[in-house]
Amino acid sequence: MTLALNDPSLLEPRAYINGKWIETEKTFAVLNPATGEEIVRVADVPVEMVRDAIEYAHKAQKEWAKWTGKERAGVMRKWYDLLVANADDLATILTAEMGKPLAEAKGEILYGASFIEWFAEEAKRIYGDVIPGHQRDKRILVIKQPIGVVGSITPWNFPNAMIARKVAPALAVGCTFVARPAELTPLSATAMAVLAERAGIPAGVLNIIPSSNAAETGQELCENPKVAKITFTGSTRVGKILMKQCADTIKKMSLELGGNAPFIVFDDADLDAAVTGAMISKFRNNGQTCVCANRIYVQSGVYEAFAAKLQTAMSALTIGNGMEAGITTGPLVSDAAVLKVEEHIANATGKGAKIAMGGKRHALGGTYFEPTILTDVTLDMAVAREETFGPLAPLFRFETEEEVIRMANDTEFGLAGYFYAQDVNRIWRVAEALETGIVGINTGLISTEVAPFGGVKQSGLGREGSKYGTEDYLELKYMCFGEV
Ligand code: ADP
Repeated sequence: MTLALNDPSLLEPRAYINGKWIETEKTFAVLNPATGEEIVRVADVPVEMVRDAIEYAHKAQKEWAKWTGKERAGVMRKWYDLLVANADDLATILTAEMGKPLAEAKGEILYGASFIEWFAEEAKRIYGDVIPGHQRDKRILVIKQPIGVVGSITPWNFPNAMIARKVAPALAVGCTFVARPAELTPLSATAMAVLAERAGIPAGVLNIIPSSNAAETGQELCENPKVAKITFTGSTRVGKILMKQCADTIKKMSLELGGNAPFIVFDDADLDAAVTGAMISKFRNNGQTCVCANRIYVQSGVYEAFAAKLQTAMSALTIGNGMEAGITTGPLVSDAAVLKVEEHIANATGKGAKIAMGGKRHALGGTYFEPTILTDVTLDMAVAREETFGPLAPLFRFETEEEVIRMANDTEFGLAGYFYAQDVNRIWRVAEALETGIVGINTGLISTEVAPFGGVKQSGLGREGSKYGTEDYLELKYMCFGEV
C-alpha cells in the first residue's frame, strides 16, 4: 500500500547502523492492522549485524561523550524541531503500522518529541557535586559520566514515544544507542532516525536494528559486554528474561513493565469527572497502554450511577480505520490481542460477571472489538490479576476505603493507580497507601515529560522523564584528592 506522505523518504524500510542505511538479505512484512494490508517489507537484521551495530556504537560513544552538553543539546534541539515539523507524516506512518487514530498518533509524536526537547535542555545541567572532605588533607568531588552503549527494546503500543523516552536522556548525557523496535512497528523508529540524521546526530550514536527475531536480538544486546545498559518497555514476563540474560555482565537496567492499574471511584467523587477520567485512562490507545485502568473499583453507593454514565460515554466511541476522520477508536493491534480480551470476558462471565455493553468482536471484522463493560466482577476472575490490554472495563464493587486499598494493592504490579474523591483527608490517605509509582488523583491522564514515569514492585526499575530521568543513564564517579 502507499501512504499519503508529504515527504515519502520518511518511510524507510532499511536498518540504520553507523550512519548508513543498510539493506539485509532477509526482510519481514509490516502490516496495517486496520486493513491487514502489507505496508512495506523491512530489513531483518541478523545477529552478526547487531554485533556490528554495538561495535560502532561503542566507538562512537567515546567521541560523543566529549561533546559539551550544549553541543549535544544543539543537535537534539534540531532533531526536536524536525520531529515537530514532520509530525503529520510521522503520525500517518504510526497509524498505518499500529492502528491508533491519526489525531492520537499525532499526539504521540508531539509527546515523544517533548522528551527530546526536555532532555536536550537537561543535557546542559548534568551537575556533579563537591563534598566537604572527611580529613583535613582531603577534597572530594563527584562527577556524572555517561554509562556507555545503551541497548533498547521497545513495544508496539507507542512506537515513537517509547523510543523517544529512552533515547533522549541517553543521548543527552553522552550515551550511544542501539534500538530494536517492536517487530510490528519498526517504521516509526526508522522515520525518527531519518530525522536524527538530518539534524546532525553523528554516525554510530543512534542505530536502529529492526528484526523479526526478538529473542535472538535481545539476547545479543543483553549478553554483549560492550553494551553497558539495557532499557526495556514491555511485559514483566520478558523483563524477567532480559534481567536473567543481563546477570552475567552485571548490566544496568531500566525496565518499564506491565501494569494492572486500579481506578477507584469513591462515593464522594464527582461522577461526571470520574467518567471522563475513566474514558481517557481506559480507552486511550483502545486500552493498549501500560497505564490503562485495568480494574475499575466503584463504591457501592455510586456503582449503578457510575456504570450508567460510563455506558453513555462509551456509546459515543466511533470505531473504525484510524486514518479516517472522526474515528476515536482503532482496531486492536493483532489477533493475539483480540484473543486476550475474549479470554478475559469468557473467564469473567463463566464466574458470574454480566456483560452490560459490547462483549464481542466488532461487525467491522479484523481485529476490531466492541467497547465492553462487565459488571458484578469479582476478585477470582482473570481481570483482577492480569492486564487485559484492550477495550474492556470491568466494574468491581466495594464498600470501604480499607477494603479497596487492600484490593488495589493485591497484585504484583505497581505502575499507575487512579482514584476520584473529594475529601482531602481521604485523598492523602489513599494516595500514600497505593503501592504504585504513579498516582492520578481526580485525573485519568498522567503522562508528561516533566514528571518521573515508572513503577514499583514487578512493574519495573527506574524512571523516565523529569529531572530524575537522566540518572538512569549516568554513573557517579567519586574523586578523592589528597594533598602531597
Ligand atoms: P507486549 O505484550 O507489549 O508485546 P512483550 O514484552 O511481549 O510485550 O514485547 C515487548 C517487546 O519485547 C517487543 O518488541 C517484543 O518483540 C520484544 N520481545 C519479546 N520477547 C523477547 C525476548 N525474549 N527477548 C527480547 N525481546 C523480546
